[in-house]
Amino acid sequence: MLRAPYASDPARSRGRRHPEPAAPTRSEYQRDRDRIVHSTAFRRLVYKTQVFLNHEGDLFRTRLTHSLEVAQLGRSIGRSLGLDEDLIETIALAHDLGHTPFGHAGQDVLDDCMKAHGGFEHNLQSLRVVDQLEQRYADFDGLNLSFESREGILKHCSRRDADRLEALEPGGVAARFLAGTQPSLEAQLCNLADEVAYNAHDVDDGVRSGLITLEQLEQVELVQRFLRQTLAQHPQLKGKRLLAETIRRMLSQQVYDIIDATRAALAQAGPQDADAARRAGPLLRFSPEMRQASTALKRFLFANLYRHPLVQEKRLRAEQVLRDLFRTYLEDPAQLPTDFAGSADHARACADYIAGMTDRFALREHERLTGQRLFA
Ligand code: MG
Repeated sequence: MLRAPYASDPARSRGRRHPEPAAPTRSEYQRDRDRIVHSTAFRRLVYKTQVFLNHEGDLFRTRLTHSLEVAQLGRSIGRSLGLDEDLIETIALAHDLGHTPFGHAGQDVLDDCMKAHGGFEHNLQSLRVVDQLEQRYADFDGLNLSFESREGILKHCSRRDADRLEALEPGGVAARFLAGTQPSLEAQLCNLADEVAYNAHDVDDGVRSGLITLEQLEQVELVQRFLRQTLAQHPQLKGKRLLAETIRRMLSQQVYDIIDATRAALAQAGPQDADAARRAGPLLRFSPEMRQASTALKRFLFANLYRHPLVQEKRLRAEQVLRDLFRTYLEDPAQLPTDFAGSADHARACADYIAGMTDRFALREHERLTGQRLFA
């Protein structure tokens, strides 16, 4: 499909913080995507936990495979809507770059450690990675991405953080949080594709790990519908294949639902360009029924998987690892690598260093510094 009028157009990008000549063969958003793929933070996603700890098995999602699934869903939906696929891919591949080791447990404990030093938020950290922490270019810190990619990466932001960012970059990526407008449609899509991806893959990983069962999932209307549909057509199917077929159908239905509901919203709002779409309220959406069904599945996963006693028990040990690391680096800057030691904001440098670690590097570093081994 051709680019729709409301799509982001790389030829009309608001540009980069450090102006650069256009690339001869690639659009601005293709260039951003390529910069993400070549970054250090992107490579580390392969060894970062999504829900399960990374070393627990090779068959579970990591942040890298999660990000690839978000990109696949986003591009597939975006193509049907005439949006810019390269921008979607850039935002999807970059959206989790700021995540700490050990999933959300890591984010929460690092935020707590940083309470007296401005806090820690993974989403702001993703922006910090692409704006500052990646050091690969001679002329600037960070990856110098286009405005639209950075806007998409900063998907939420507290009032306090928005005020702070706005003071540093007036009218920049935080302005929309103060003005109450939306990001581009490509960015809105990545948010929704993120939810679709993790709901589906957490059902898959959850069942395959034995922490939840398909019988339990029968309580969830969305899963039940496709489980019954699959069994009605294939009564003999069971195990892994029944699970995969059920999830495949659920994913397809959610994709079609988003395309239909969003087309209707776009037809009603009739935005003439990407900026008009930003002012039109959230347009990328599920139908009201699918919104309810997706939220119910999310609630089920929260109660039964993310709060499962075995996941919780690992969570406590992971928190201990990060707390010990933070305290040690804070008290003894000599333990930090030279890139991070001697920073004017020492606490922030500790948080940056820890946030960039993979799960297994954090464990090795913890063992080196404390002599304890918290995970066998
Ligand atoms: Mg995500």
